[in-house]
Amino acid sequence: MLITQLKSKDAIEALAKGKTVIINCKGCQEVYFPEEEALALQKELTGIDVTALIESDYICNPDNLKARFEKYMDRIEEADSVLVFSCGVGVQTVAGLFEEKTVGAGCDTYPLPGFQGVTPMEYDCAQCGECYLNYTGGICPITACSKSLVNGQCGGSKNGMCEVNKDMECGWERIYRRLEMLGRLDILRYPTKVRNYAVPGDETK
Ligand code: SF4
Ligand code: SF4
Repeated sequence: MLITQLKSKDAIEALAKGKTVIINCKGCQEVYFPEEEALALQKELTGIDVTALIESDYICNPDNLKARFEKYMDRIEEADSVLVFSCGVGVQTVAGLFEEKTVGAGCDTYPLPGFQGVTPMEYDCAQCGECYLNYTGGICPITACSKSLVNGQCGGSKNGMCEVNKDMECGWERIYRRLEMLGRLDILRYPTKVRNYAVPGDETK
């Protein structure tokens, strides 16, 4: 079981500009999604022009995502930003499908004890409790980097491959390329981020 929690209104407003498509994943049995709070907050967002508000379930499944979003494709293609309210897997699936769009994560994802679901997924989220996807072009640094680094590459990669796992592409090289393609390398100049290990529900941290 996992739980998604809304980021602050200020943080969400800073993620989007111009024509914006909002995607709400109403979740699955394994994820609690704060639907009413999300809709209320989305009505209050200022400075963006919401051109479509899409609700779906299982946006973590790329085939389901493509089928459900078909009728919204023109508005997604026209949009300046896409805001996704879901667990970290859903945001990564949308970012993977719309690689040339700025895709923002409106939620943080926390773990809860119990069943974690069986949905086949292309991406991974370690439910770190403080989603970094908005700094990394929609690629999770916790799962895409062997050392779960959140402030850039360790310096050990060779020919684009990870020094820990030579069969794996360096996650931070992927992040750099994605941000470069989006014209957002400026994000890497942001102040160092300190990872919060005090994830609610885990009394050992
Ligand atoms: S940064 Fe990665 S592990 Fe953390 S919530 Fe986002 S997708 Fe999940
Ligand atoms: S080589 Fe890249 S993916 Fe591997 S640990 Fe270093 S930064 Fe992370």
